[in-house]
Amino acid sequence: MSITPQPQPGILDIALYESGVATLSGHENVVKLSSNENPFGPPPAAVEAAKAAAGQMHRYPSSDHASLRSALGAAHGLEPDQIICGAGSDEVIAWLCQAYAGPGDEVLYTEHGFSMYRISALGAGATPVTAPERERVTDVDALLAACTERTRLVFLANPNNPTGTMIGMGELTRLADGIPDHAILVIDGAYAEFVPGYDGGASLAANRPNVVMTRTFSKLYGLGGMRIGWGYGPKAVIDVLNRLRGPFNVSGPALAAAEAAITDAEFRDHSLAENARLRVWLAEALAAQGVPSDVSHANFILARFRDEAEAKACDAHLKSCGLIVRGVASYGLPHCLRITIGDENACRRVAEAVAEFKGQTP
Ligand SMILES: *Cc1c(COP(=O)(O)O)cnc(C)c1O
Repeated sequence: MSITPQPQPGILDIALYESGVATLSGHENVVKLSSNENPFGPPPAAVEAAKAAAGQMHRYPSSDHASLRSALGAAHGLEPDQIICGAGSDEVIAWLCQAYAGPGDEVLYTEHGFSMYRISALGAGATPVTAPERERVTDVDALLAACTERTRLVFLANPNNPTGTMIGMGELTRLADGIPDHAILVIDGAYAEFVPGYDGGASLAANRPNVVMTRTFSKLYGLGGMRIGWGYGPKAVIDVLNRLRGPFNVSGPALAAAEAAITDAEFRDHSLAENARLRVWLAEALAAQGVPSDVSHANFILARFRDEAEAKACDAHLKSCGLIVRGVASYGLPHCLRITIGDENACRRVAEAVAEFKGQTP
């Protein structure tokens, strides 16, 4: 008789991650708008830097990431010693759960919070807990009310994915003020760059013993495939995470690409300007077809349909037009589709396809 080895409790409760669909067979000219990637590709300076670094791929990469941390510190006005680099910010999220939450502990996030919070909480054996949002917007009072003796981590993506909505500094500060001392507030700034004048929560993470900020190069900086992100927080917390971090967790080309990406202001400014312009344009074009969305602060919009059936039918129509967007039923939003802001041509194709779809449905 054979007995199947069993994983730790909680692991089998994790549903396998479904990433944004990447291909459609039988289509030329497919546009992928399902993973919030930069439509203009990677920054040219980052590509050059990664190519140069590839010649050293027989060497282990830097273990302390000192060069990138100091570049990040200079760019954001932060203390490099309080920065930690991960294979995507997903890795930083996982370390936080592993280090600070275990069986019996609670990891709190909002109703439509990013999927990695649940995955990492369960992976650590902790209990995921959600707090309601108010019409797809973070409700600070609901989050504070959901904090208990057992709460160890509170994750908040601001702006949030998949809703695209955000709360202002006043509300964010109120959340940081109200969180119990035994819990860490993690402000996930994956889309912070898209919000003019917003520091992603850096000022809160700089001044408090229990606030951490996470950031990524995967969205605005166009380096999703390189797997590089970072966290910033109190020295004591960063020290704990560094103990869990594999010594060579980020590859040499990824480190080089990220450092170059920070300096490519032309690429960044162009990406930001086009995103801001086309986000408004697309939201208005869809609204004119009876498909509203909340004002988005990120590089996608969350299009709302009458019901799940209509969202699914429109998704199918978009696919038939070679346009891949993201269904978000797993986020409790079955009547919505999340659409990354592509380049102008992609946005026009989406608007035309939705208009065509709406023209067909009574
Ligand atoms: C994309 C995303 C991340 C992380 O992406 P990485 O590629 O792992 O850096 C984190 N949080 C949110 C809310 C995201 O949308």
